[in-house]
Amino acid sequence: MGAVSKPFERDQRPPRELPKLRLVVPESLSPAAAVPQPVPTHSSTMTDTQTANSLPQHAELATPLKPTAKLLEELKEANRGLETATPEAIIQWASDRFAPHLTMATAFGPEGCVILSMLSRVAPATYVFNLETGYQFQQTLDLRDQIAEKYGIEVDMLTPELSVPAYEAMHGGPLYKTNPNQCCFDRKITVLRRAVEGKHAWMSGIRRDQSSDRAKISTVAWDSKFNLVKVSPLANWVKQDVWKRISDEAIPYNRLHDQGYPSVGCWPCTRAVPNGDDDERAGRWSGTQKTECGLHSLEADGSGI
Ligand code: SF4
Repeated sequence: MGAVSKPFERDQRPPRELPKLRLVVPESLSPAAAVPQPVPTHSSTMTDTQTANSLPQHAELATPLKPTAKLLEELKEANRGLETATPEAIIQWASDRFAPHLTMATAFGPEGCVILSMLSRVAPATYVFNLETGYQFQQTLDLRDQIAEKYGIEVDMLTPELSVPAYEAMHGGPLYKTNPNQCCFDRKITVLRRAVEGKHAWMSGIRRDQSSDRAKISTVAWDSKFNLVKVSPLANWVKQDVWKRISDEAIPYNRLHDQGYPSVGCWPCTRAVPNGDDDERAGRWSGTQKTECGLHSLEADGSGI
């Protein structure tokens, strides 16, 4: 692994222009305690007071799926059949089987941007959201508009209940410095749980070659962490496949990748890796044992990935 700087020593994020502001007053705060929260104006369906507690209903809520023996057998069968399928064919299958209760979470990584380009051709009505923790780089937020302009897909930016100032005030400072697992849980997992309520399946851009944990994923599987089906259209792709597609089709991508960031997450927990590193997850929570935010990590029983 190449040399990496220690995390959390200082704010190393590139200069960031604030997005246009809208006020969000979390219900749990008294008016006196409420802190204005910057929210990108490009949330396609959120209202002025919308937070993860009152998510937009893109489609009628579906009765939750249950992991019955019949469903698990169906998923196993589908997984076998799709193992050598193209990502587009996998997305088509997911859309045919689960739309309108199919959704996708994206952090605007290269894989997410590639899937968004595929979605625009295969299943453009799919509801796509981003977990806007309040700690994302401006370059990441800018991608939302670039994708909308090129593909007509408006990614919904979903925020946690508490703004960053309110959250840090509640914890006596930034929790990412002292308890990043809790911070990820509060600002990502909780929002994701609410976003997928009433959905039957979600897609993500993870690939098997990204890490030893991710090497175990199936193309289609039951996700017991979030109680719905997880579809990974790029499970079989390798890094070169992703970047070739980006180059061939001029797909918008996060320019931080050109500045030594192999993977881009929240700015406090992401570092450039100046000397390069084969590990695509290098630079995330560097200097700690943490490797995943919890969205894609294995449960103790091996499920939920
Ligand atoms: Fe918090 Fe860091 Fe997790 Fe973002 S990646 S939610 S800042 S701990």
